[in-house]
Order: sequence, then C-alpha cells, then structure tokens
Amino acid sequence: LLRRADIALYRAKAEGKNGYQLFTPDMDEVVQSRRLLEVDLAQALAKGDQLHLAYQPLYSGINGEITGVEALARWEHPTKRNLPPSLFIPVAEASGLIVPMGEWILRTACRQAVEWNIGYVAVNVSPIQFRQPGFATSVKRILSDTGLHPSRLELEITEGVLVDKEKSGAVLASLRDAGIKIAIDDFGTGYSSLSYLRQLDVDKIKIDQSFIRQADNDEGGRSIVLAMVQLAGALRMQVTAEGVETHDQRAYLSSIGCDQLQGYLLSRPLTPNAMEEKLNGTMGVLAA
Ligand code: C2E
Ligand code: CA
Ligand code: CA
Repeated sequence: LLRRADIALYRAKAEGKNGYQLFTPDMDEVVQSRRLLEVDLAQALAKGDQLHLAYQPLYSGINGEITGVEALARWEHPTKRNLPPSLFIPVAEASGLIVPMGEWILRTACRQAVEWNIGYVAVNVSPIQFRQPGFATSVKRILSDTGLHPSRLELEITEGVLVDKEKSGAVLASLRDAGIKIAIDDFGTGYSSLSYLRQLDVDKIKIDQSFIRQADNDEGGRSIVLAMVQLAGALRMQVTAEGVETHDQRAYLSSIGCDQLQGYLLSRPLTPNAMEEKLNGTMGVLAA
C-alpha cells in the first residue's frame, strides 16, 4: 500500500501544481514502463549511438538572418519509434541520468558550434542538472575542451530554477562572470512576476509558445506579447518568440521589435546535415 501511495505522490509531483492524486491501477503500469525506459536510457548513454541532437535555427526579427541554433535532444530507441523529449527527459531527470546525459548534450552542441562557426548555440539545462554541485565548473571545462568561446554558449533555464535566488544565485553569477549567456525558457508560464524579473540577471527571455499562439489576430493576445517585448527592452534583455507558426505572428513580432524568432514557420528542428546545408546555402536569409 505504501508503494501505491508513493506512486500517487510521484504522479502528483510530476503533474506539478498543488494537486493531489488517488492511486489508480494504471499508474502502476506507468511507473513500470518508466522503469523500463530508464534501463534503456542508461544503455543508450553507455552505447552512445542512439542519442542525437537536432538543431533549430533562431532568426533575427530585424533582418531574417540566422543568429544561432537551439540544440534539442533526440533518442532513436531501438524499438519504440519517435520517443519525444517530453517523455524521456522526465525519465532522465527522475533517475539522475540527466546529469551525464546533459554533459553529453553540452559537449556535443559546443563541438558542433565550433565546427559550424555560428553565432551561438543554445542548450537546454534541466533544473536538476543546474542544481548539481559543480555544474558551472563542468560547463566551463566543456568550453575549454571544445574551444568554444563562452559568449557563444547560451543556457536555457526555466523560471522555476531562478526563483530561489539563494540557491541559484552563485551558480548563475559564476556562469555569467565567465561570459556565458543565460536565457529564461518558456517565459510567462512559471513564477514570473514583473518585480521578480527585474531582479534576475539574465540576458534573454524566450516568450512561451502559448502566448505566441494567441498573437495571431487577437488584440488581447497581442497586447500581452507586446508588454513582454517592451518589458525585456526596458530591462535591457534580448527577447525571443518561440513557436512562430504563421505569417501573421511573424509580421506582428517583427513590427514590435522582437529580437529573435523561432518556430516551424521559419524552420523545424533539423538533423546536423540538414542544418549544415541551410547554413551553407543562401537559405539562412528568409525569403521576403
Ligand atoms: P523547449 O526547450 O521549449 O523547446 C522547444 C520545443 O518546441 C521543441 O520541442 C521544438 O521542436 C518545438 N517547436 C519549435 N518550433 C515550434 C513551433 O512552431 N510549433 C510547435 N508546436 N512547436 C515548436 P521538442 O524538441 O520536442 O522538445 C520539447 C522539450 O523537451 C523542450 O522544450 C525542452 O524542455 C525539452 N528538451 C529538449 N531537448 C532537451 C535537452 O537537450 N535537454 C533538456 N534538459 N531538455 C530538453
Ligand atoms: Ca528551450
Ligand atoms: Ca521553450
């Protein structure tokens, strides 16, 4: 029975918020399949041929050029096809595998950025990875090993990580002192209060896709996005719009001075080969 209570608790935590969960039999299955996935993931990490990175370009809102790329983890599971990161990253986090996996991701992305000579590479960092003792040191070691200049690495972190300044402050300062850039991912979905954002020492906010989706032709939706862009400007932070899917959204975002645009309209995440072709071709510049 205790185990069942644990499972329900685990589930309630995973669902976030302040919810509660009653145990249901199907949860047992969920936990079991997670365990199996955990074993597979450990193997994938050890073997090293199943994990890959996809790269999605970020475009300047002003001239349409590629300013950088975001690295996104992909797992080619031997039998399960198309396991999305939204499924395997939580498994990696719960098992602690996110730490070695995160290091591999960082190293691979940095090496790629050196090879491509692009403006910057953005890498997602899990809260668990960020809170790991020695995180800043390990990032700096990877930079010196790969030869990537610190200013060309951007770490994407969610608001929740930064909200506890006592815990995250020293790590954040150490990274920024080294010249590494910090972006708040999924901005607007977490704890953000305006006064709190002011206290944060970050270089960029990435407006969450849910807000961009409402910026099509909707006055109210647009005014929220406009407020975020203006706020970032006032705080001297860069601002990126995530999940740009329509011409309407893109036109509006450019018109209000959004610094960077990212989304399926401009480019889906690409394999390294496809990304390289895009960088080599004239496709870096958006067609008008
Ligand atoms: P994220 O960091 O917010 O990444 C953006 C996600 O939105 C990516 O999904 C990307 O493929 C997708 N996306 C990009 N443009 C559009 C668009 O126009 N429309 C829509 N609907 N989606 C778009 P993906 O690759 O499935 O990753 C999902 C999440 O998994 C990421 O969200 C991130 O939180 C996590 N993740 C992915 N790779 C890593 C990683 O290397 N490390 C860590 N810690 N987390 C990762
Ligand atoms: Ca991200
Ligand atoms: Ca995001």
